[in-house]
Amino acid sequence: MKFDKDIIIGMEIHVELDTDTKLFCSCPTKAEVPNTATCEVCLGMPGSKPVVNKKAIEYALKLAMALNCSIAPELIFSRKVYFYPDMSKNYQITQYEMPLGSRGFIELAEGKRIGITRVHLEEDPASLTHQGSMETSPFVLVDYNRSGRPLCEIVTEPEIYSPQEARDFMKQLITILQSLKIFNIKTRIIKADANVSVKESGYIRAEIKNITGFKEIERALIYEIERQKKEVLEGRKIIQETRGWEAGLGITKSLRSKETEEDYGYIFDPDLVAVDITKEMVDKTKKELPELPNQKLKRYVEKLKINATDAHVISSDFVLSEMFDRLINAKVDASLSADWIRRELPRVANYNKKEVEDLLSGKFEERFIEIIELLGTKKITPVIAKDLLNKLADGRLKESPKKYVEKEKLTAVSDSSEIKKFCEEAIKENPKAVDDYKKGESNALNFLIGQVMRKSKGKASADEVKKIIEKII
Ligand SMILES: [Zn+2]
Repeated sequence: MKFDKDIIIGMEIHVELDTDTKLFCSCPTKAEVPNTATCEVCLGMPGSKPVVNKKAIEYALKLAMALNCSIAPELIFSRKVYFYPDMSKNYQITQYEMPLGSRGFIELAEGKRIGITRVHLEEDPASLTHQGSMETSPFVLVDYNRSGRPLCEIVTEPEIYSPQEARDFMKQLITILQSLKIFNIKTRIIKADANVSVKESGYIRAEIKNITGFKEIERALIYEIERQKKEVLEGRKIIQETRGWEAGLGITKSLRSKETEEDYGYIFDPDLVAVDITKEMVDKTKKELPELPNQKLKRYVEKLKINATDAHVISSDFVLSEMFDRLINAKVDASLSADWIRRELPRVANYNKKEVEDLLSGKFEERFIEIIELLGTKKITPVIAKDLLNKLADGRLKESPKKYVEKEKLTAVSDSSEIKKFCEEAIKENPKAVDDYKKGESNALNFLIGQVMRKSKGKASADEVKKIIEKII
């Protein structure tokens, strides 16, 4: 392949599918005590026969179709042969010659398409635990609970040109996985390997293994790109190798010179019969696909007319977009909803040192919607609404905002004669500010508005107060 960009990145992502049982046996995918969720199949005992999990096929098919892939007519599994304690059979069951999905793409929120080379199903190996570091540990602990859990591997074309783009790609992929309801970000694992090279070295690539989380991917790539450029600048040669990302130290470390796929002996798995991917299966899956992030983006901008930046941010975050759609279903004004989801929710989350999604538990969502409803119908002012949200976020508001507003008499003052009375008082009490305003100081007007807002305890609308003061003076 001929490259001309400064940085070339390709990614391989492993996603743990959210099924109850493993890929080829009925062992549960969740277990607390090591080596308790195992059987003769996932331990690789002689004579045991794997049977493929239908749910996993269904999930993988959903993903391949959501990533715009061509779908293989059959699901065929191969054995990837290697010797290592994490694979008791001495081979991993995966797909090689004919992946379930191929030649797809993901469209980033900004419109750029990243090609998807392939999407395939495979089993997870067991997990290994070392004491201290891998080099010095006197032993290795093996937990076969993980062995045989269903993974989807997604491989991209080398069409990602910056660490930021890699991060956007991961974020978009995670949002798609969440929309499809085949991945649980809290309980399942998503890991990325990134192939990265720079122009300066003539594009000799290093593969960085096992990066978790979409924020880490950007960090790891920024470090690795700088490292490669520095090596070349200082006259050293870049070698093709596999490196590990040490998140704690913020560096990548050489693991081994890179093996190629051909180094593994692949053979078709004779124990697994090919599963036909029928037209009925494809049609049914197509029908069941939910609205995906880019379709949401289009709807938000074209139908709901919210501004493009807000639409981007909300549609590419599963939690925010779910919340936003609930507000829209409750018939709350779209722009107002977008504004509050985009700005006010992150503000209170930040203030309480939480993530937005940590706020959205129990009655929070329901009460948040009520606050926006009250605000949207002008029953309360923005000042009161913000105060209510603060109280809701830190746990001081323990009841329905509607009831609370009634009880505490926080309803917006809509009677202009009452507001007028407050304005007249403020003008009378602050002759200097009135003078300053007449001399052309605009701050003086803000001061007077502030005085009225205080008198009304935030229940008057600032716009209306401004109009009335201007009229009186
Ligand atoms: Zn098992």
